[in-house]
Amino acid sequence: MTLVRDLAGVGAKTAALFEELGVVSAADLLEHFPFRYDDLREPTPAARLGLVLGGEENAVGTIVALRERRARGLEIVEATLRDESGTFQAKWIGRNRYVVGRFSRGLRLFVRGRTERTMAGATMNVTAHAILPEGEAYHGALVPIYPAGKELPSRKIAQVVKKNLPALLSSLPDDPLPVRLAQELHFPALEQAYRNVHAPQTPQEADAARRRFIFAEFLVLASGAQLARSRREQEAGARPLIASDGMLENFQGALAFRLTSAQARVIGEIWSDMAREIPMNRLLQGDVGSGKTLVAAAAILLAARNDAQAALMAPTEILAMQHAAKLAPLLLPFGITVEVVLGAQSAGSRSSAVDRLASGAASLAIGTHALLTQGVEFARLGLVVIDEQHRFGVEQRATLRAKGGTPHTLHMTATPIPRTLAQSIYADLDISTIDELPPGRTPIQTYALRRSRLDRVYALMRKQVEAGHQVYVVAPAIEESESELTSALVEAERFQREIFADLRVEVLHGRLPAREKEAVMKRFVRGEVDVLVATTVVEVGVDVANATTMVILDAHRYGLAQLHQLRGRVGRGAVASYCILVTPDDAADAQRLAILTQSSDGFAIAEEDLRLRGPGQFSGTVQAGKDTLRHADFARDVLLYRQARAVAQRILTEDPELTTPEYRGLRRALEAAPSLRALLLSS
Ligand code: ADP
Ligand code: MG
Repeated sequence: MTLVRDLAGVGAKTAALFEELGVVSAADLLEHFPFRYDDLREPTPAARLGLVLGGEENAVGTIVALRERRARGLEIVEATLRDESGTFQAKWIGRNRYVVGRFSRGLRLFVRGRTERTMAGATMNVTAHAILPEGEAYHGALVPIYPAGKELPSRKIAQVVKKNLPALLSSLPDDPLPVRLAQELHFPALEQAYRNVHAPQTPQEADAARRRFIFAEFLVLASGAQLARSRREQEAGARPLIASDGMLENFQGALAFRLTSAQARVIGEIWSDMAREIPMNRLLQGDVGSGKTLVAAAAILLAARNDAQAALMAPTEILAMQHAAKLAPLLLPFGITVEVVLGAQSAGSRSSAVDRLASGAASLAIGTHALLTQGVEFARLGLVVIDEQHRFGVEQRATLRAKGGTPHTLHMTATPIPRTLAQSIYADLDISTIDELPPGRTPIQTYALRRSRLDRVYALMRKQVEAGHQVYVVAPAIEESESELTSALVEAERFQREIFADLRVEVLHGRLPAREKEAVMKRFVRGEVDVLVATTVVEVGVDVANATTMVILDAHRYGLAQLHQLRGRVGRGAVASYCILVTPDDAADAQRLAILTQSSDGFAIAEEDLRLRGPGQFSGTVQAGKDTLRHADFARDVLLYRQARAVAQRILTEDPELTTPEYRGLRRALEAAPSLRALLLSS
């Protein structure tokens, strides 16, 4: 294996800097892709500089005048440059030392930077320049810009790559993409693709090469998912859990209300999965408040009736406790009691829970990551339920499942993902969707307001608190910064000092230690906080029925789906609830928030988000394959994924074991990816 330190132009010091970026071998360097290219190919004539807004421009000209001056303590160099079409000003700020001594009239320069045009002409703020040899035509290229380190600039990385490219290309890694297939899909061959990524002639060339690598990654992932599914279906090995006649009616009879038809349908889907020897692997998605808990209860009931145990894992203690509190009364009529397993738990209650689970005396465990610890064992684990599944890693999900033989698994999520996207990205999951809310909900009244009318919001907040309710205020940033985002800390401080001095205001954000976060949240749950100013950490699943108002500051900064998620924190009780979306007076794109004031259907909102802002919107919620994807982004590149999945299906139908020589690279890639193996185990 060639190491980066063996390459030309790389000393021990540079090698160490490369290592900080995770680049150790020559192969790593080949895979270290530029994230963009500066296009230096075309100089803009002086007469046309600054006519197009945005972006940097290139120009080539001869120095006809040169000045130095000082303004506000900064040294500024200004040069007048001339080309055939006219003249323009080039300006260097604070870098005199580097430029002045080397410039003189008559010198030809290449310059690049943002240009402004006024009546007096164009002025460029130079960010890069080069002195050009006299009489030689200008040859600009696409300059790759690499992810860089503090002391290892992109420029240096580009130099090393350029110098060593032939050597790097002389030992190519295995290619998961079969040659014939690459041709068929009009992708460049592997060597050419690497060349086009690191040294493209045109942006189109670079883009096509990048798509090839993304496609190859997806092909591996999709083939893996496909293999996992067929292996799961062949090996079977799960305990069939069979619903007896009248069980659904029985369950319904114990409830105070009628199941919605969506709930009944979804319970049917889950129960028929669980009746098979093939382990269930199903995602239950439904909006906040759609009644997923009840569906989970039905799955747990089926397990218990078949003498199998169930485990439900939630990402935080508060959520686990809430599940326990909601499930206990639903399951009690059926003689099912709940054992709780948490990190912060007295040794006594922990050990009694652990004993009852190990002996099989208890049929349901609800807990956090604490369920994963070694001491927790099950006598007959037949069902695993994972809440907010995207908050767990694949290994964690796999660990819980490994505590049973081959348990059935139900994943739950309250984050609606557009259907089209969900079917693609959850490759090895079947999907059940609750697309209907229980009747009789008072919809959350949602308003969009400009910041200058905040006093009306404060009045509403005060009124709610005086009526005994609680309020969330969400701000995008933790601290004050240059980004002009509203800061949770600053806002909380202002509330406490000026606006709500007589109320109990607390602040919650991601940089608080986990313990502290839970403590603040617990005080809020107990009603000891009137106004909770938070960042989006408050997003997931907390259920405080007494919280009636959600104020979201800088609402234009969020995707519609995320705003809908945040809104779901209120409207959990019987009383009227409010969601106020506040945007700066001058925010241009506030119009798109209108759909939130009109609709409460999370899926419709997610679809609109997909239409307006594209699939990248959902990157955060898509967990599948994250560790195995180097160049691809599931949400962003969903179309390529779909194409790769179709190809994977075709390949595996033809050759289920991938024994044909042309699939050797693909098979090796599947065998080599450790995190892919974990993904296959669990998703
Ligand atoms: P989710 O977990 O999907 O956010 P929950 O299961 O917590 O939703 O249900 C939200 C509320 O709706 C609970 O108070 C629950 O009792 C109630 N609920 C669930 N299903 C129904 C139904 N079919 N009819 C009326 N109320 C329901
Ligand atoms: Mg829930």
